[in-house]
Amino acid sequence: MGDSVNSESNQAPIVHTCQRCGACCRWEGDVCLTDEDITAIANFLGITEEAFIDKYCRLQRNRRGLSLIDADNGNGPCCMLTDEGCRIQPVKPQQCKDFPYKWNFPGWEQRCPGAGKTSYSPS
Ligand code: SF4
Ligand code: SF4
Repeated sequence: MGDSVNSESNQAPIVHTCQRCGACCRWEGDVCLTDEDITAIANFLGITEEAFIDKYCRLQRNRRGLSLIDADNGNGPCCMLTDEGCRIQPVKPQQCKDFPYKWNFPGWEQRCPGAGKTSYSPS
């Protein structure tokens, strides 16, 4: 994600620059997948959608769709997180692309080191 400021009139501007720390890939919860995400990620990985779903997906906790699985038998980070970052970065799910501008949660600024930053500064 690049430098960006959300200037929707009825909300405080969101200032954020992703620091590529991967912390959000370790948060609890679902990494929800749209139909378009599934098609794009399966193509990127060079496997069928069925094979992708079998190997990398589970039901969302509300059972209304699919999520990427968590590594380490459900106890680890998102299964697509590697030491080099997101394995599917060019086609990562829309949910991942949209954070924090189109969705976030109370207290996200305390958990995301990119909050309030206007430039990339890896530690
Ligand atoms: S926690 Fe924030 S800074 Fe770190 S990878 Fe996620 S969005 Fe980027
Ligand atoms: S798909 Fe990529 S960006 Fe999204 S949570 Fe998983 S590792 Fe992180």
